[in-house]
Amino acid sequence: MSTLYDLSLTELEERVEALGAPRYRARQVRAWAFRRFARSYEEMSNVPAPLRRRLAEELPFPETRVDAETRSEDGLTCKRLIRLADGKLIEAVLMLYDPRSDSRGRATVCVSSQAGCAMGCVFCATGQGGFERNLTAGEILAQVTGFAREQADAGKQPLTNVVFMGMGEPMANWPAVWRAVETLNAPDGAGMAARHITISTVGLIPGIRRLAEEPLQVGLAVSLHAPDEGLRERLIPTAHRYPLPAIIAACREYVAATGRRVTFEYCLMAGVNDAPEQARALAALLDGVLCHVNIIPVNPTPDAHIRRPSRARTLAFQRELTARGVACTVRVEKGAEISAACGQLRGGTAPLPVVQASPSR
Ligand code: SAH
Ligand code: SF4
Repeated sequence: MSTLYDLSLTELEERVEALGAPRYRARQVRAWAFRRFARSYEEMSNVPAPLRRRLAEELPFPETRVDAETRSEDGLTCKRLIRLADGKLIEAVLMLYDPRSDSRGRATVCVSSQAGCAMGCVFCATGQGGFERNLTAGEILAQVTGFAREQADAGKQPLTNVVFMGMGEPMANWPAVWRAVETLNAPDGAGMAARHITISTVGLIPGIRRLAEEPLQVGLAVSLHAPDEGLRERLIPTAHRYPLPAIIAACREYVAATGRRVTFEYCLMAGVNDAPEQARALAALLDGVLCHVNIIPVNPTPDAHIRRPSRARTLAFQRELTARGVACTVRVEKGAEISAACGQLRGGTAPLPVVQASPSR
């Protein structure tokens, strides 16, 4: 059954009209859902009670609840384990940026797009757990409204950004992901600027092409992790479907079509993909592509062979790229201590104990 969060404005207007109410009620309901983060129809005080009752029967709120939560010591990162109506578990992370170090005072939610993931990346706890199912648009949006509501209730920074970098491969669940993006962006929805939304993909070319064709200025991040096809296929067992040169070609087309730069994610692993010559090969591969490389020192995974390189080695890798004109940064540690790498809380490998389990949407 669809939930309130799964419908577009037009679809909700049709439902409201079918119930004998004027169309404008749909906008009111969506404002309550996505601007005021209502928990239920009961809160929608300017909507007539009979309509609220009918909507509650026909279009309930998504049934998700927070099963566990871990917070970083500085309080800036909060990771949630969320149980869906059918019992499947997903994760969502809120990352606040200290206004002293980030003048924009960002508040970013990292959402999951699937329960599990079919891509099988060897360094990723989600990939190692296998695929369960796609999330609905409503289940994606519920991750955002849950954090948004809590921020609003506490009088804290409203959410500014959403990144699809949690569990799952967003481009393998395009219809639901795009529906969620549209509601996040819509003026009658959450009203978040499209350029504050980023979709991260392991390199599914049809998805990169779709994003290039979209008029919405949604950001694209592509997980590379290797400068050559052989190593990439060892790290991402399903990578052979979309070879590296074809991915880079699709990214060039994306830049040409949109004028936007691509973010490339490169998860750095000691002795695997962190050698200076690999940095040079990466720079050659990306030559002339309008891009930014995000070097992510790998978070610990259940596989003890995959280790984070030393700080010196990480910086040396970065220097090689910079020297060749490739813009790059080393990802700031956000939540490594609460094992913010995707799938790790669910995998039960969190080094910190679960501190809170509270029922909420
Ligand atoms: N499936 C998409 C989006 C979700 S994964 C993708 O792969 O791009 C989001 C990011 O988390 C990816 O860049 C991935 O490389 C990274 N990631 C996964 N496991 C990690 C780990 N153990 N340490 C650091 N980053 C990790
Ligand atoms: Fe899936 Fe991304 Fe994890 Fe790879 S890194 S298994 S694509 S979620």
